[in-house]
Amino acid sequence: MKIVMLGAPGAGKGTQAKMIADKYQIPHISTGDIFRANISNGTELGKKAKTYMDQGLLVPDELVVDLVVDRVQQDDCKKGYILDGFPRTIPQAEALTEALKKLGEKVDFAINVEVPDENIVKRMSGRRACVSCGSTYHIVYNPTKVEGVCDKCGNELILREDDKPETVKKRLDVYHEQTQPLIEYYTNEGVLVEVDGTKDMKDVFSAIVDILGA
Ligand code: AMP
Repeated sequence: MKIVMLGAPGAGKGTQAKMIADKYQIPHISTGDIFRANISNGTELGKKAKTYMDQGLLVPDELVVDLVVDRVQQDDCKKGYILDGFPRTIPQAEALTEALKKLGEKVDFAINVEVPDENIVKRMSGRRACVSCGSTYHIVYNPTKVEGVCDKCGNELILREDDKPETVKKRLDVYHEQTQPLIEYYTNEGVLVEVDGTKDMKDVFSAIVDILGA
């Protein structure tokens, strides 16, 4: 099962993607996580990506496409995978479709998690990320057992630079301009499904499972 998660930044697609990956035992491939790991490891890719990410801008297509196309051809992706944060532009989607076509494969579901803009800014200011393992939480909707401490690895939680309100507004503009057209793209591919992302995360997940099959 090859799945693409769509939705505005902060729509909760990362949380849902992790739950789907767990249930269906497929790898969760988050380009944002890959960039953040590169930033913490001080790689050249990380240095380049950070300059865009901190401004709420997209990293250029050429820095992300090859990385994902290589990743989806690794052995653990044979049964399928879930892409979270990729594609984010029409050229990225076209590059993915082309690469998969060469392998005789295609995206099975593009799941659009719908949340209106006004909910997003409110949500994102409550988001917290672990400095070490990248797990994300929300102070109201998905709190940790101990405030400010990651449940998974015990390290400190922070408000990411790109989750700060001014950056979030910029990211929403970028989303509407460059990523929202993917809804039409995947509708035309016949694989778009939509879920209401304003609901509780467990309800959003059951709506997704209803679509994907138990
Ligand atoms: P995310 O964690 O998915 O919200 O991604 C955080 C940031 O990483 C985005 O705001 C972009 O700057 C960058 N990024 C992640 N995925 C992509 C992508 N597919 N194309 C371009 N930039 C990306």
